[in-house]
Amino acid sequence: SEIIAKYQVLERVGSGAYADVYRGRRLSDNLTVALKEIHDYQSAFREIDALQILQGSPNVIVLHEYFWREDEDAVLVLEFLRTDLASVIADAAKEQREGGGLSVGEIKRWMMQILCGVDSCHRNMIVHRDLKPGNLLVSDGGVLKLADFGQARILMEPGFDAVEENPQPYEQGTSNYESSHQLPEAPPLTSQEQEITSHVEYFEVLDELRTKSSTDDVDKDTNIPDGNTSCLATCTTSDIDDDILKTNFSVEAVGEEPGCLTSCVGTRWFRAPELLYGSTDYGLEIDLWSLGCIFAELLTLQPLFPGTADIDQLSRIINVLGNLDDKAWPGCSKLPDYGIISFSNVENPIGLEASLSNCSPDEVSLVKKLICYDPSRRATAMELLRDKYFSEEPLPVPLSELRVPL
Ligand code: ADP
Repeated sequence: SEIIAKYQVLERVGSGAYADVYRGRRLSDNLTVALKEIHDYQSAFREIDALQILQGSPNVIVLHEYFWREDEDAVLVLEFLRTDLASVIADAAKEQREGGGLSVGEIKRWMMQILCGVDSCHRNMIVHRDLKPGNLLVSDGGVLKLADFGQARILMEPGFDAVEENPQPYEQGTSNYESSHQLPEAPPLTSQEQEITSHVEYFEVLDELRTKSSTDDVDKDTNIPDGNTSCLATCTTSDIDDDILKTNFSVEAVGEEPGCLTSCVGTRWFRAPELLYGSTDYGLEIDLWSLGCIFAELLTLQPLFPGTADIDQLSRIINVLGNLDDKAWPGCSKLPDYGIISFSNVENPIGLEASLSNCSPDEVSLVKKLICYDPSRRATAMELLRDKYFSEEPLPVPLSELRVPL
């Protein structure tokens, strides 16, 4: 087939629920690539759709091209990234036992790269839904990139009847996208749908944002920001209204019942409380909760809420943050499973300060901006990038000073 003619498949490097990933070699120029064979049509479609939109973002994995096979499996040709943040944390934890660990400057640089990647997703109204250290891949040069978009969704404006899995309202990705392959089974928009899309303010906003983000200065060959361009500079040069990054739109995602997202997403330890209570109209904020868990783990080198089951997950959260009631989050009692799962009163919650012992007050306050019950009170990725934490001493180290596991 076409892919065999262009790539040599080398060893398998990983496998997940729906996918096998191989290291491969592009025959034309010997470039090492990752070949991700996805056995689930929905998941493949979601990953391709999201990645196409996000191409050009310095902290999102590069999709070189993709192939659909006749059996509806897809093969994605991705840039090859050897390691991930989970390994960075594991190595640092080992060193910490010998007195080392991550420096504050390193932690800040990792965090900023994650925030840049998440900001790219959220300004495009893409919710990743499975953010965790293992899905944050890392290059030998210390560049961190969001990967595994198999659960990602594009959020839609309310009342907009999701055009079933139809990518047409979105522009194709930018710079690094080489393939001209068309997605299969994408029927042309009906005139009525065209009418809708052309009048929905959401798409106008989206287009505007996309134009702005595509001006980011990215080396076209490596997809790495030019020279020493700091991640912050790339992100904050755009004057995007912060409000747009909050979910003004109630949620409808392509590919699920309109207005009804599944709550069974993500990896338990990083799952937001609204998901654990069965919410189906959540928004971008579920990623912000996961971010808080990841930041806490970078700071302490231990998972923040390592639940062993969904109930245990919730009880760990409640033991730290306190009771989840309408005082903590107005409206939470309306969550689908709120009446079904109840916990005994927690009189003296542990508090995030105690969970983050040995962290500075600035660090605790950063995590607190993300780990809060009320999704509308979580800080956006853009707000956090502007946080003084990242411009104060000790400054984030340059990429070249990040220690990447061998
Ligand atoms: P799944 O959606 O099934 O979890 P992932 O995208 O997480 O699939 O990939 C599974 C594993 O394959 C990852 O944990 C990682 O080890 C490896 N992998 C995935 N993408 C790449 C890549 N671009 N470069 C190198 N290894 C990768």
